[in-house]
Amino acid sequence: MRISPDQALDLLRSDDLIGVGMEADTVRRKLHPGNVVTYQIDRNINYTNFCTEYCSFCAFYRPAGSPEGYVQPLESIFQKIDETLALGGTGILMQGGLHPSLRMDYYENLLGSVKARYPQLHLHCFSAPEILNIAELEGLSIRDTIARLRDAGLDSIPGAGAEILDDEVRRRIARLKCSTEEWLQVHRTAHALGLRTTATMMFGCGETLEHRIRHFERIRNLQDETGGFTAFIPWFFQRENTSLGRFVKEETTAVDYLKTLAVSRIYLDNILNVQASWLTPGHKICQIALRFGGNDVGSILIEENVVSAAGCHNTSTEDQLRAMIRDAGFRPIKRDTLYRKYFLN
Ligand code: SF4
Repeated sequence: MRISPDQALDLLRSDDLIGVGMEADTVRRKLHPGNVVTYQIDRNINYTNFCTEYCSFCAFYRPAGSPEGYVQPLESIFQKIDETLALGGTGILMQGGLHPSLRMDYYENLLGSVKARYPQLHLHCFSAPEILNIAELEGLSIRDTIARLRDAGLDSIPGAGAEILDDEVRRRIARLKCSTEEWLQVHRTAHALGLRTTATMMFGCGETLEHRIRHFERIRNLQDETGGFTAFIPWFFQRENTSLGRFVKEETTAVDYLKTLAVSRIYLDNILNVQASWLTPGHKICQIALRFGGNDVGSILIEENVVSAAGCHNTSTEDQLRAMIRDAGFRPIKRDTLYRKYFLN
């Protein structure tokens, strides 16, 4: 039986960490029998770090005109893809800041050039705020923008930019960023156009537990409507080098991370995959998280610029991820971006 927002709040407030974890583990085992935990090999490619949004939690962006700003040349993107393929990669996650002047022809050319050269590569690209930025610059509807990107080679859309889906929080931490409804509308439209997407949450940025539950509720409602989310991916705010970090006094604890992950697994009964993070909490907490509802550990890390800019420097090779999964008592299986398992050993 589905739990209500009030019941979820009780779980988040509960002192019974192990009890909440066991409940989430029961849900995971039902959805993922066979003691399997998945991972992927892909690469984050940040095509630009110029951004007009100035989010207070972000140490990655550079304002227009900054000498530290860049737009990656195609040749350098190709080189990063070649390195990814050499490691057994199957896709790339391409994201940027919200560039003030790159237009649709840039994005169509980028996707089209990559697809022409690497037809098998899965292109998981452009967060909802980036798509809204392109739509605005181009004077296009969300639907037409996504349809054109899809026709140029876009295969699926990452859930970045969700942070906490509640406008009270968004206004405080990212005043210029899209609203809750706009984020949801991009994903609703992508699902209607046949693209799968992921849902994310960045918590620990000064929100209340009620805000977290509202985030879960909005994701669950949209999944009921469309069924288009492949996974839920929660992580917590990294403070270093960010302006928000000066105001959020308390670091997210491992207990808070595990409990929030577990409640997300229980609450989001209509989303098949929940990702346990190792990048910010580290490998040990990730292993425990696999008993708190997580059934996937995401990708190895070839390059990551966003959370590393905020002071997080954990890394993992494929062998390390497989060993981490095995040591936690599970069978590692490689998957692709759409969570199709295809490599068993
Ligand atoms: S989080 Fe994204 S949208 Fe916000 S400032 Fe950083 S790059 Fe820009």
